[in-house]
Amino acid sequence: MSGLRPVRGTHDLLPEGFRQHKYVIDTACEIAERYGFDEMMPPVFEFTHVFSRTMGQTSDVVTKEMYTFPDRSGEENITLRPEFTAGICRAFASNSLYDQVPFKVFACGPLFRYERPQKGRQRQFHQIDAEIIGVKGPQADIEVLSVGQHILEELEVAKSVTLRINSLGDAESREFYREKLVAYLEPFGEDLSEDSRQRLHHNPLRIFDSKSERDIEIITDAPLLRDHLNYDSQKFFGDVCDGLSGRGIAYTIDPGLVRGLDYYTHTAFEFVTESLGAQGTVIAGGRYDGLIEQLGGRPTPGIGWAGGVERLAMMVGNIRQRRRPVALVPIGGDACEEANIIAQKLRKAGFMVALDYSGGMKRRLARANKANAVIAILIGDDELKRGIVTIRDMENGEQHEKPLNNLANHLAQYR
Ligand code: ATP
Ligand code: MG
Repeated sequence: MSGLRPVRGTHDLLPEGFRQHKYVIDTACEIAERYGFDEMMPPVFEFTHVFSRTMGQTSDVVTKEMYTFPDRSGEENITLRPEFTAGICRAFASNSLYDQVPFKVFACGPLFRYERPQKGRQRQFHQIDAEIIGVKGPQADIEVLSVGQHILEELEVAKSVTLRINSLGDAESREFYREKLVAYLEPFGEDLSEDSRQRLHHNPLRIFDSKSERDIEIITDAPLLRDHLNYDSQKFFGDVCDGLSGRGIAYTIDPGLVRGLDYYTHTAFEFVTESLGAQGTVIAGGRYDGLIEQLGGRPTPGIGWAGGVERLAMMVGNIRQRRRPVALVPIGGDACEEANIIAQKLRKAGFMVALDYSGGMKRRLARANKANAVIAILIGDDELKRGIVTIRDMENGEQHEKPLNNLANHLAQYR
């Protein structure tokens, strides 16, 4: 039945999967908060130029992956956001927040890219995102990397993740390098893939990102940007690396890491794992000093990263519900109505209460177990007459009685 089929590349986040998903987001948000990042939420769609002008006319995202459509008025093109950075920078400039720098924000939510769906690659996916806008110096690069590393540690996945880092230099270094790179690549002519031939003059650096085997062969012997950095760019990169070492953050310098977007300068990085197969990049980002100006704002530096929530959730594995409910188990007809009244009182008093609609004691206890209840409160007609309930420890099965009166206070430890 095609009517019941979800759109290709979208996923239903059912309760079980959503728990992991939310765990990743909540953990990231809490850690980012410790570093002074405030949460914000840019719109899910923007005018198309917000992305096309910044991410670059030759980037895969802009040329092949954006969900773009004319707005109903027909006057403007709208794009579902394929990333956070451009939207956050647009929001920064639109709201003229120049006097609020350093502007440190955290965001999370859905993104949309028309890609070939596979493990760890969807058309609607989710990211956590951290940005520092308004800081020129390498302290911001170091901090943004530290918070990423800290989140991976808190999620207990850091051991299987490597930080790869590179410098794309400043505009001067890139211009100087670009000429050398084009001179090296031009003689290969038709040997290069069609995409790469197109990029040769618009953005030759991108060819490092090519997935074509022949391109990869050709690029292996190309001159490296790293050997063409001017003094300032070298110093900047050295300071970032020293800062990481000083904080005990391990990294590998990867001279071929260029990142797929036009707006990066200086620091570019990826946190990569071997444990997810081909889609191994879990957090990626870099410095984007020219971006806000490209959008039409005042020149303002920035740096940030985005992490794939689905990929991180896969690494985190199963999370048990952290808060454990108390289960109510009525035994007998009168007890059922009473159980509902007790449940309401406990819920008002802040307890998480599991209470089924039907079933005998055995079935209800089995479900209480499945719900990971910490205790079951057994309510029998006889006990009700005596004004007591039986508390059953779900770990060891031990039972004892408690007065019904003021029950919430007697159970305070399970709240
Ligand atoms: P890739 O090389 O995997 O396509 P990218 O360079 O396009 O990644 P970014 O734009 O830097 O990715 O996005 C940051 C992170 O978001 C990625 O490292 C990844 O974890 C996640 N991500 C990107 N695209 C997708 C997608 N289509 N599905 C799921 N996660 C994604
Ligand atoms: Mg991609």
